[in-house]
Amino acid sequence: MGNTIQSVRGFSDLLPEQTPLWRQVEGVLTGVLARYGYREIRLPQLEKTELFSRTIGEVTDIVEKEMYTFADRNGDSLSLRPEGTAGCVRACMQHGLLHNQQPRLWYMGSMFRHERPQKGRLRQFHQIGAEVFGLTGPDVDAELIVMTARMLRELGLRHVELQLNTLGTAEARQHYRQALVDYLSGYRDALDEDSRRRLETNPLRILDSKNPDTQALLDEAPVLDDYLDDASKSHFSRLKQLLDEAGVAYRVNPRLVRGLDYYGRTVFEWVTDQLGAQGTVCAGGRYDGLVEQLGGKPTPAVGFALGLERLVTLVEDQGLVQPRSEVDVYMVVSGEAAEQQALVLAETLRDTMPWAKFQMHCGGGSFKSQFKRADRSGARFAVVLGDDELARGEVGVKDLRDGGEQRTVGRDELPDVLTGLLNEQ
Ligand code: ATP
Ligand code: MG
Repeated sequence: MGNTIQSVRGFSDLLPEQTPLWRQVEGVLTGVLARYGYREIRLPQLEKTELFSRTIGEVTDIVEKEMYTFADRNGDSLSLRPEGTAGCVRACMQHGLLHNQQPRLWYMGSMFRHERPQKGRLRQFHQIGAEVFGLTGPDVDAELIVMTARMLRELGLRHVELQLNTLGTAEARQHYRQALVDYLSGYRDALDEDSRRRLETNPLRILDSKNPDTQALLDEAPVLDDYLDDASKSHFSRLKQLLDEAGVAYRVNPRLVRGLDYYGRTVFEWVTDQLGAQGTVCAGGRYDGLVEQLGGKPTPAVGFALGLERLVTLVEDQGLVQPRSEVDVYMVVSGEAAEQQALVLAETLRDTMPWAKFQMHCGGGSFKSQFKRADRSGARFAVVLGDDELARGEVGVKDLRDGGEQRTVGRDELPDVLTGLLNEQ
């Protein structure tokens, strides 16, 4: 393997044995989105770098050190998208989707961040996200959260906790930021390097530091709650009331801040203790200032993104996978005449049984070797097509499990027989 080319670190392949589970998870999530009347938008993976620095924020981890940024052949600075919200806002503005409309949208796809790869943390990863524009909430905040609760429930996940907080207005955060900096500056030497840097650049981020010493310092620190404006407070209590009413349990975490600059008021995360340090499977919140910040009319907005790698891992680890074979019936063929007709027979079967999966044996070989492949395909039944059977207008149907009984049926009866057998199992 010395010289063979390997994939880029942090960029992984999804092999055929993994993709069915991914499709299952994606199917549940996108199905729920459709049932709430959300519409899909597909967005480019590459955007102008400026879009991200102006939205996510210059001094955030993402923009400072995680983006894949390069100059293209024209010298323009471009970046692979590290998240979906900025591009979604850009597209809505560019195509006039925010004029007298309140679009509820979803997207799915790859995101790129140059982080240290580990379980649940890749450099190319996948999100499903939703964004709603033009609605001030808190009714729509509640809808989004209730919808994420349904998604996780319908995936069958246990041990996930909803954490909730409000960040208030930009002005409230400004005042609080100052108070926090004043307090923490007195303990500069006790802070780790990361937090010392953040004290200058992005002090609120210190609140979700994983360092226990820092967390201990924060016990005595000023709390954002004391700086909140009344409107944000009543928005938050209404949201909590709606969630109570809907029976969605949550924990208010006053230190939940999120790493992106554009959030205000509602923020939330779904967190699990089953994935080590990579415990957040879904994160979102309100970003009422962002459209205006990008030169549009003031437009309230709220959204979230789910991390698919982490969800798929949870579904797998919690044993929620229902393996479904990729093949129902394997077609075994021997003899020249049989080979000639097998293709037509398989096409006829696919016409009459569009819900079933037929795999045709290709490449010849003995019956024995063909049955070996049939077993390996995971198929439940084999249809056996030999010249002798064919001459009589018949085919063999072999049960590949349970003793391997083989029966002979007329070609005309074949769809009915197979339908019966496959529905029985
Ligand atoms: P974290 O704190 O784990 O780095 P984040 O706050 O950077 O997460 P967001 O930008 O809010 O993450 O993205 C939403 C979700 O996308 C996360 O909750 C997580 O499930 C997933 N996610 C983020 N970064 C990665 C990554 N590098 N690899 C895999 N999934 C990721
Ligand atoms: Mg991150």
